[in-house]
Amino acid sequence: MDEFKTSRRYLLQGAAITAAVGFTAPALAQSTTPGATAATPLRNPQGGFPKPPFTEQSQPWPGLASKMNPRPDHGEDSYQGSGQLSGRRALITGGDSGIGRAVAIAFAREGADVAINYLPAEEADAQEVVKLIRDAGRKAVAIPGDLRDPDFCRNLVQQAHTALGGLDILVSNAGRQHSYDSILDIPDEQFDWTVKTNLYAMFWVTKAAVALMPEGSAIVYTASVNAYDPSKNLLDYAMTKAGIANFSKGLAKQLADRGIRVNAVAPGPFWTPLQVSGGQTMEKLKSFGSDTPLKRPGQPAEIAGLYVQLASAKSTYVTGQVFGASGGAGQP
Ligand code: NAD
Ligand code: MG
Repeated sequence: MDEFKTSRRYLLQGAAITAAVGFTAPALAQSTTPGATAATPLRNPQGGFPKPPFTEQSQPWPGLASKMNPRPDHGEDSYQGSGQLSGRRALITGGDSGIGRAVAIAFAREGADVAINYLPAEEADAQEVVKLIRDAGRKAVAIPGDLRDPDFCRNLVQQAHTALGGLDILVSNAGRQHSYDSILDIPDEQFDWTVKTNLYAMFWVTKAAVALMPEGSAIVYTASVNAYDPSKNLLDYAMTKAGIANFSKGLAKQLADRGIRVNAVAPGPFWTPLQVSGGQTMEKLKSFGSDTPLKRPGQPAEIAGLYVQLASAKSTYVTGQVFGASGGAGQP
């Protein structure tokens, strides 16, 4: 209670200071603030976004964003860049749809050339992303292939490096998630599939990339809220996400001496093809995100900014961290 009173007092003091500063700010913004743009409208994070109940839908794995109802918002019509990644060269796995697509759009609009990897079955989604990157005036490189193959992982990094003329950002984001109610139902091949995609491929791609990345480069992994709070229907997946979070922290310590930063993002529920192609039970999909304080899933566009921040030179003291975005459901 005391703590509440204290923080409320600080808030009120802060409001008074803001009001005082606000008195002079408009004049400053018009004349001297470098890079100032028009005000962004205030947005209530709970309202005005797609929310449950969602209509029943299911697609064969790996699913297409273009066939989802509603279509996810990857920032196609909204993300505005400000040169934060000018001249950077980025490889994003799973860059065709969902979180990876939102990151690809954001990176390109921030000035980066972008290579994306995806599965051949996702060519239609990938071509939309290629067009969006080119529309932003940046180079787009599309490299389809299956990350469960270690040789492909190594070739992928080489191809991206050659086509982009270097590599200074790696976003290892591709993931496999399949829901099973019981451990008794998880086939050994499924367990292997999940671990190959989420952990082995991450290791193979990272190892190849680190050998090529210059000082100042950044690696960002996609972990999950499941790393801390495993869903009972996602045993194998959740375990790999804990592994990714742990790996990124350890690697950050090791790569500090090479001048490479390593961080991870841990999303909560996001509206992406992963969820409608076997990632959730139909019951969970219909109410997806309803158990968060914001009472809805995130849209991929709402998390891209975290990846930009972690990749950019604004975050030179940020390494070995995991950043959550889960609609208000706490993460450690
Ligand atoms: P998504 O389906 O849009 O992206 C996943 C991508 O992984 C696919 O587009 C596909 O290109 C790629 N992929 C999967 N298996 C592959 C393979 N064998 N070879 C090459 N590519 C392969 O869904 P998303 O939710 O945007 O997933 C991106 C990441 O976010 C994943 O790591 C996922 O685990 C993580 N994540 C998602 C959520 C969520 O609620 N959507 C929550 C936490 C973490
Ligand atoms: Mg996809």
